[in-house]
Amino acid sequence: MGGNIIEDLKRLVFTPGPSGFEDLVRELVVKRLEDLGFSPKVDELGNVLLLPGGGSVELLLAAHMDELGFVITGISDDGLLSFRKLGGIDDRILPGQHVMLILDDGSLVDGVIGLTPPHLQLDRSEQDRAPRWYELKIDVGASSREEAEAMGIRPLTPAVFKKHWSTLGQGNIVASRGFDDRVGVALLLEIARKISEGSVSGEGVALAWTVQEEVGLRGAFYVGSKINASTVIAVDTMACCHPAITGSAKPGRGPIIRALDNQHITPRWLVKSIVQSASNAGVKVQFASAGGTTDAAAFQRAGIPSAAVGIPLKYTHTTAEMLHIRDALEALKLLEGVIDSIPKGAIA
Ligand SMILES: [Zn+2]
Repeated sequence: MGGNIIEDLKRLVFTPGPSGFEDLVRELVVKRLEDLGFSPKVDELGNVLLLPGGGSVELLLAAHMDELGFVITGISDDGLLSFRKLGGIDDRILPGQHVMLILDDGSLVDGVIGLTPPHLQLDRSEQDRAPRWYELKIDVGASSREEAEAMGIRPLTPAVFKKHWSTLGQGNIVASRGFDDRVGVALLLEIARKISEGSVSGEGVALAWTVQEEVGLRGAFYVGSKINASTVIAVDTMACCHPAITGSAKPGRGPIIRALDNQHITPRWLVKSIVQSASNAGVKVQFASAGGTTDAAAFQRAGIPSAAVGIPLKYTHTTAEMLHIRDALEALKLLEGVIDSIPKGAIA
């Protein structure tokens, strides 16, 4: 990554992987790790684990591979697809979206979420409210159920929003869908690369790329139940900003220690320790309470003290998530600083 952070991130963002159907992202992660000379483990749920040091785990870094999406629930006689949502999608953003269906063989089929045009609205009050997800259909251009089935579509076929990519500001801001949490996935891959080249020590470190975070932290619960780690940092994005919830945190001002969110509180000693590492590494961090939660909550419930480092995003969970590149780069420096602080030689 380094200079190629944007390219790496873009590749990850454009690889579809809704919750429970992370296969294509997992293949990419595993391939990258194998290319670096590692032998990552894929567990029974599909989480990817890497223990480069081989010994006991002082620090586990976790990022989730899954993204928001849909599952096809049925096909009507006229070839339209009903669907349900995977993860926290605001119904207001659904009409008019382009989507991609992921077939069993990994090939992709385009679709759109249609909406009755103004010309055909008999009652203009329709425009006063956003349609609910169950009132909408995905249209893949099939005119019958048979035609849709012949395209390889069936109930349980997963789908994601089709991604767009914009470069904003002075080129230092990018907008797309899926930075949550492909940013974390990319940062952990970069940590792995640095460990492989020896510029970061793998001693006492483990890395986990988890599944099904967006539908209830399910992958992380399983990793937490299996791994014997002293501490965990979930590396995820953070919905920014609302003064009542996120205080004075701002995108572009560095990674955020998500000290408290809807399901998790970071122990004070762990906050202090991360702040000390950040200061040693010359990284400015922000503090905030956050909405939602992260994999850190699952690890905490498994009895492992955990923290979450958030990369602030505007418009999280929409198709226009906005990321300051600097925040991602500074988060990487912060994680390197935390790894540097692991006492060396003291590990059994
Ligand atoms: Zn999310």
